[in-house]
Amino acid sequence: METEAENDNKLFQNSIKYLHSISNVKALNVPALKSFYSTKGRLMELRNAIYLPFNLTRTSVRCQRCLINLSDGPASYKIKAQEKKSKFARKVLGKFHRDKPLTKYQRKYIKHLDEFNGNHLAITCKFCKKESLIKLEKPKKTVRSKGSKNIPQKKKRIKKKDKFCGLNEEAVLSLTPQNVRGFRRLNVRNKRQKNLSF
Ligand SMILES: [Zn+2]
Repeated sequence: METEAENDNKLFQNSIKYLHSISNVKALNVPALKSFYSTKGRLMELRNAIYLPFNLTRTSVRCQRCLINLSDGPASYKIKAQEKKSKFARKVLGKFHRDKPLTKYQRKYIKHLDEFNGNHLAITCKFCKKESLIKLEKPKKTVRSKGSKNIPQKKKRIKKKDKFCGLNEEAVLSLTPQNVRGFRRLNVRNKRQKNLSF
């Protein structure tokens, strides 16, 4: 038999799921209502320490202020270029990475310093206008294993120039200017035609 606590737990779980599902119904086209249901669900989560899966609540999926699903908004997306760190920040970071002693102020400063050095994806919720930033990690460089060096590389084929462009050699030679009557005249006519067209 289930205890009262287990029953309560199930009840809250179902309520949270229900509030989440109704806040995501496409037909409910009222952002304020969607936000209201999501907020109710979130409060229930926090009071009872029961949480929705992370893939439904992360910053890239829903707004962290009004809790509306960003795809419902729709939200606007923009890439923000990395900001250059101040001279002081670079100096403190350099000292920190070289294991040099830091002053009391520098230790405090580095605690709050974001070491991330890359672009951000800025998502702006269309309902409450909150901007959320997502770090865009740079892909890590792949290190070649030693074995890969020994793989023989294919040599590039050097193509021989084909004077006859793949045509029959004898047939082409039989059509050289000396062998074709009227070739010169035709050539001259072509030149004149070219000049006329200018
Ligand atoms: Zn919002």
